[in-house]
Amino acid sequence: MSRSPIVGGNWKMNLSLGEAEALASEVRHRLGSYPGAQTLIFPPFPYLQAVAGRLGDSPIGLGAQDLWYEGKGAFTGAVSAAMLVSVGCKWVLIGHSERRHVFGESDEIIAKKLRAALHAGLKPVLCVGETLLERQAGQTFAVCGRQLRTALQGLQRSELEHLVVAYEPVWAIGTGLVASPEQAQEVHADIRDRVGDILGMDFAAKLRIQYGGSVKSSTAAGLMTKPDVDGLLVGGASLLAEEFAAIVRAK
Ligand code: PEP
Repeated sequence: MSRSPIVGGNWKMNLSLGEAEALASEVRHRLGSYPGAQTLIFPPFPYLQAVAGRLGDSPIGLGAQDLWYEGKGAFTGAVSAAMLVSVGCKWVLIGHSERRHVFGESDEIIAKKLRAALHAGLKPVLCVGETLLERQAGQTFAVCGRQLRTALQGLQRSELEHLVVAYEPVWAIGTGLVASPEQAQEVHADIRDRVGDILGMDFAAKLRIQYGGSVKSSTAAGLMTKPDVDGLLVGGASLLAEEFAAIVRAK
């Protein structure tokens, strides 16, 4: 089964407004007509509308790094799914490891966020991954499986048509320690099997699974040669347009 590659750039909490606008324009210039992979970018909340303007009608997908699951009300500092849609977002990261581990969000909160995204018509990139301690304890598959199961429980296949899963081992994010293509492949294959158990093998065969964690242009192609690695989610390296473009074009 061939799945079209999808590569995202997570800008995290970086850049000024002017730098974000310039980076968006540069990414559009380099990748806006590249047919080989779907490109997504995830700027900080305050820059979303300005970046949407820079992306214009290009096929580059605009996403947010997070949302809160309530619709509106007394949730100081939070941003709803409908707000994201209203400023031009089509995509959203759900359960990024920094939300889970820096902000302490549980599997249950992340499951609610996934539902809120789907309800608003946002396309979710659901992030899962184990810590170093969990890997060393041989729990990688179990942890990713639990995160997936809790997030997907009770959802119908028809609601998840645009779901993308990102395998992002916590020990590889922002550390320079990229997983080997073999390490990524074995977890991706297991994720696909587990999604197959929950939603059916035909659904799982079409699911795109990204790898994320210290990807650079020098490691992107090796990861993308693996049969269950359908794309990449890139943090630090997505802040440099030339490097990000080289990663997107790596396959
Ligand atoms: C990320 O933030 O999703 C990520 C993978 O970061 P980095 O590429 O910097 O490790």
